[in-house]
Amino acid sequence: VNFLNVHKSFGDVEVLKGINLTVEPSKVVCLIGPSGSGKSTLLRCVNHLETATAGAILVDGQMMGYNVRGDRLVEASEAEINKRREDVGMVFQSFNLFGHMSALENVMFGPMRLKKISRSVAREQAVALLTKVGLGDRLENYPSQLSGGQQQRVAIARALAMEPKVMLFDEPTSALDPELVGEVLEVMRELARSGMTMIVVTHEMSFAREVADEVVFMDGGVIVERGEPEALLSNPQHERTRSFLSRVA
Ligand code: ATP
Ligand code: MG
Repeated sequence: VNFLNVHKSFGDVEVLKGINLTVEPSKVVCLIGPSGSGKSTLLRCVNHLETATAGAILVDGQMMGYNVRGDRLVEASEAEINKRREDVGMVFQSFNLFGHMSALENVMFGPMRLKKISRSVAREQAVALLTKVGLGDRLENYPSQLSGGQQQRVAIARALAMEPKVMLFDEPTSALDPELVGEVLEVMRELARSGMTMIVVTHEMSFAREVADEVVFMDGGVIVERGEPEALLSNPQHERTRSFLSRVA
């Protein structure tokens, strides 16, 4: 994933002020920073839930939202945008599962509906994915019958079912009771080990330290500092980073 001078304004307020960032395949980048610094907006620009006001975002070399026609950029059609969204899996703080569908149906839905995969194949893949996230015995449960940690693991399986090229996580554990955080982080850790490209907004500094290839600190719509987790978290170079870390640690 490449962020090329990405700007985003809401009205007169510029919340992303020229973000340049490359996330190489199979790498994990953790994004940290204070509330309002633009972390969620940056993730949302990747799958075009928000449209960057300037700059470009490439996923696997493909520009989100635009096509190159000769020397011009042309807005992509809704169908093209939806197609490219399939490359981007997203997991939110609130699990956003379909409440009227079982865990299994939640995971089968996208592949059947968007990838036109047959019910039997979709089912087989969904069972495998749910088993991988430790929910092989919960296939028929509805979200209301699952704990927050279990729901979030269904949400991860559902995103993975689309076989994305990158997974985006926006504070995936911050709505969870403390005792349920670990099981979700464990699934994410396993996913990182398996070679998935991941961008993770998180306040879990121990996760960042252990799993991230790079930690990026954002404040006020800019990247203030970035580096290897140990270096950035233990020995930040900028005052703003230091003061943020002293507040969250
Ligand atoms: P948090 O840690 O609280 O989740 P964040 O770093 O994810 O914060 P964003 O949600 O990206 O921050 O918000 C960045 C800024 O953009 C904030 O000032 C927010 O109020 C503003 N903002 C976000 N979405 C919109 C919107 N749809 N309309 C107007 N302003 C918005
Ligand atoms: Mg946010």
